[in-house]
Amino acid sequence: MLFIDKGLRSERKAAEGALRHGAKALAQTPGVNRVNYDTVMESSANQGHVLHTSLLTSLLVEQGYLCAYCMRRIDERTAHIEHYLVRHPSDEYVQALNRRGYTYDRDEADRQSLNYRNLLAVCDGGSDNPTGKKCCDKSRSDSRWESIPLHISPLEQWHVATISYSPKGMIRSTDPQFDQDLTGPLNLNETALGLPAARESVLKRVQQRVSKRRDGKQLLKTQLEKERDTLLERRDGRLDPYVGIALWWLTKQIEKR
Ligand SMILES: [Zn+2]
Repeated sequence: MLFIDKGLRSERKAAEGALRHGAKALAQTPGVNRVNYDTVMESSANQGHVLHTSLLTSLLVEQGYLCAYCMRRIDERTAHIEHYLVRHPSDEYVQALNRRGYTYDRDEADRQSLNYRNLLAVCDGGSDNPTGKKCCDKSRSDSRWESIPLHISPLEQWHVATISYSPKGMIRSTDPQFDQDLTGPLNLNETALGLPAARESVLKRVQQRVSKRRDGKQLLKTQLEKERDTLLERRDGRLDPYVGIALWWLTKQIEKR
């Protein structure tokens, strides 16, 4: 999981504006009494598919074409739009959020369904995996987890800063509730989906790159920082899949210098 900055960009402004415009137009339509993501997308006047494409493209650009949760590569063909606060909450989900001090009900769910900040681009969650194992939003919407709102959010930098990894690519958080989200509802340590192995190989690649200088000496702090900056650079708008583990490890090495 990588921090997602929803700062103002031209793509976001256009997509967010179109979403707001669509919701407003629908609200003014006679006979319409519910304005939410579903009804706005279904409304023929709003050309839902055009709006959907514009939103998805904006989210993909924002996220460097990586799934908001597992960080695998996604694109316009494979990604879909996920609502962080769920669109169709169960009573238990609503009650759990209310217990956390957040007033959530059906009307608020409708409002949040149209809030750009509540939207994330995510992968297919391993839907075609023969083992039936799932991750990301496909896992969190499973009956076991659907009534539990996530605690961890990729939109909060400090949440993401609690994340660490094992040498075998297992993802962890120092916060017990975030840790539970990562391994439970989001199922990001699912070996059947190859997630830890994919992270481990990214970790090994970065370790090999920075540990083998021809003269046998360790890289300087500035060289490690340069390596980290390179990883954060986007090529054709894209970040490398599972780059989170490499960034985490480099940051740790930089802090030790
Ligand atoms: Zn994913």
